[in-house]
Amino acid sequence: MTHYLVWNFDMNYDIVIRGGEVIDPSQRLRRVCDVAVSNGRIAAVDDTIDCSTAQTVIDARGQFVMPGLIDLHVHVYPHSPFGLEPDPLCPAGGVTTMLDAGTAGSYNFDAFRRETIDQSRTQIFSLVNLSCIGLACGSLGELLDRRYADPDGVVETIERNRDVAVGVKIRASANIIGDGEQGWANLNDAIRSARESNTWLMVHIGDSPMPVPELVEALSPGDCITHCFRASSRRITDDNRNIFEAVRAAAERGVIFDVGHGFGSFNWNVVQAALDDGFEPTTISTDLHTMNIHGPVYDMPTTMSKFLMLGLPLDRVVEMSTTIPAKILNQPDELGTLRVGTVADIAVLERLTGEFVFSDSNQQTRTASELLVAATTVRRGEIVPGGGGRRMVHLPE
Ligand SMILES: [Zn+2]
Repeated sequence: MTHYLVWNFDMNYDIVIRGGEVIDPSQRLRRVCDVAVSNGRIAAVDDTIDCSTAQTVIDARGQFVMPGLIDLHVHVYPHSPFGLEPDPLCPAGGVTTMLDAGTAGSYNFDAFRRETIDQSRTQIFSLVNLSCIGLACGSLGELLDRRYADPDGVVETIERNRDVAVGVKIRASANIIGDGEQGWANLNDAIRSARESNTWLMVHIGDSPMPVPELVEALSPGDCITHCFRASSRRITDDNRNIFEAVRAAAERGVIFDVGHGFGSFNWNVVQAALDDGFEPTTISTDLHTMNIHGPVYDMPTTMSKFLMLGLPLDRVVEMSTTIPAKILNQPDELGTLRVGTVADIAVLERLTGEFVFSDSNQQTRTASELLVAATTVRRGEIVPGGGGRRMVHLPE
């Protein structure tokens, strides 16, 4: 029997989560035990914790207890047609930390911070879009006019907001950043802003102006390709369903490959080909926005369940949704872990069994036999009202 450090010796815990199967990849921990929370921190993880004086006891028997999920790709800037309200996403998906993937740019980031990031109870980090207007009218292509590219503004915005602005975003589709030389000029501006701000760049691949092998060769360790399982002429696999050598080499040198499911960016054939060729994503994320929350994406647990169906082990899926994104956000000692003393962000997920129809972004369906759903979420030591969500049914259409 392993005994874990008890951080707070007075036993008046605020919350004790009892009897769940704890999965914490940061400690290589997976077994049935109790987790106690006190003053917003993880107070104890142990086989049996005395909960007689705890304010709240959560019975998690038969459920999974893991670090609060970290969604590395969401859109929560409200002055964009994509923007969702962030706080309801937390209990609905067990997500306690989210990264807004560049919905705002240098002209509107301050408003985003003031009105949303600073007001939300859920922790929000953000990327800054190379386009000064961000996705305020994203359907028009925010970098088709080169005058909107604002690399210096990105650097300045990040420097002013170091605590929340952690990187740069560009949506590298030809209909967004332009073709040929213009596409490259925009991409190079985005790369330069990441280097000058000493952060990293997330590149959305779409029908990109440059082939994916050339694109990834321009990236540095720590930069990120999102929508990595997108189907189109620009994808990470070649015509023989093999991962491009340049993509594999990029992953090996530390370029991040993020799922960013979205409504156009996750294709069963591509993800299957990648997995068959021994290529796994670095991180699982949703790309949740107004147009995919009611399908095919729904939430983090649904996206995680798709990878369980594809054969990835649960521990890996949890790691890709907690511990690894915490490292990418440069918060490995605080987030994505249940280590005693760290912030009490906890997702309790339930595994439903039955028949679940999962759709990719190209309306192709597959039937799975299990679905993870958020049962209880603890955010910074508080149980989040509203409980878990089942496919966002509690959110208005
Ligand atoms: Zn996105």
